[in-house]
Amino acid sequence: MVTVTVTAKFHNPSLSRRKEWQRATRLYRDTKQFCIDGWENGDFDKSVTTASIDNDLYSAIQNQAIREAKSDHSKDGAVRYRESQPFAVNNQNWELDTTENGTVVVGFPCVSQWWYTPIEVYDDIADPVERLVEGDADKTRLQVYRRGDDWYCTFNIEYAADTSGETPIGVDIGERHILAVTAYGEDESMLVSGDEAKYVRRKYRSLRDSLSEAGALRARNRVGDKEQRRIKDLNHNLSRRLITFAEQFEKPVIRMEDLEGIRENSSWSGVHSWHFHQLQQFITYKAERAGIRVEKVDAYHTSQKCSVCGSMGTRDRDHFSCSECGRGRHADLNASENIAQREGEPCTG
Ligand SMILES: [Zn+2]
Repeated sequence: MVTVTVTAKFHNPSLSRRKEWQRATRLYRDTKQFCIDGWENGDFDKSVTTASIDNDLYSAIQNQAIREAKSDHSKDGAVRYRESQPFAVNNQNWELDTTENGTVVVGFPCVSQWWYTPIEVYDDIADPVERLVEGDADKTRLQVYRRGDDWYCTFNIEYAADTSGETPIGVDIGERHILAVTAYGEDESMLVSGDEAKYVRRKYRSLRDSLSEAGALRARNRVGDKEQRRIKDLNHNLSRRLITFAEQFEKPVIRMEDLEGIRENSSWSGVHSWHFHQLQQFITYKAERAGIRVEKVDAYHTSQKCSVCGSMGTRDRDHFSCSECGRGRHADLNASENIAQREGEPCTG
């Protein structure tokens, strides 16, 4: 599922609309405060309905106010609402449509009736608005609020991601091979040795050690800076190579291990894990710039399972073998094939 938040400004709402919305905002606040105060004072219990609410607000909006107050009360107890807070309409009680001349309008009830009001549609919200008009997406509740002299509405839309024709690119990052990459279904892979990174780390470690022994601490810190610069250059280079590799394929989507889930993989928990984290960050932002989606996948057993049959296999240095289906494969490429096949969560940064 893809969720997009849309915020739009109402286009020149009439005075009667603005008055009605202002009134709805106040009544919405009053309804929520009435519930909170009633629960705090023990006047009624949580089963309060719109029958207890004595105001002119449309009942669907009263219901939404009660729901919101319930949720706030369960989290924060006594709450003081302000009048600048939005009023909300649940998803079944508002709509987005186009008029005959193509103007996009948002319609919802407040107090007296449903009102349809044009919104300003700029490029940043054009796509989600079109999906909603075409009926290709679901919407959530609508929030309406005033900022200065202008009125705005905010809502989310949700739709299934179009994954047809995509090429999953599985990326395994590790010590022995800094990058093991598979374009799944394309029979293409890329393997980059971790030797250069290892060499850089070893070289600067021994330099640092000898400087520490000599008590030359400032020189030692300078060596640390130098090492960071070398690793950074290396990560820029590696991430560029990966993007170039991915760009050969149709609609590539890059999948990497989710670092939050890493516990068992020793490569990620070592002192040099910042090196790997940085590499992932570089890959993510370079991919975004190239218009390639990046997903983080569950890292569980990606290096222990056979990428063909899913059984637990055995690893002998670089070689992975599966006694179940007889497959033998480079161990890190087997891991990248597993990563490529996992459903991921979209990720930014
Ligand atoms: Zn197998």
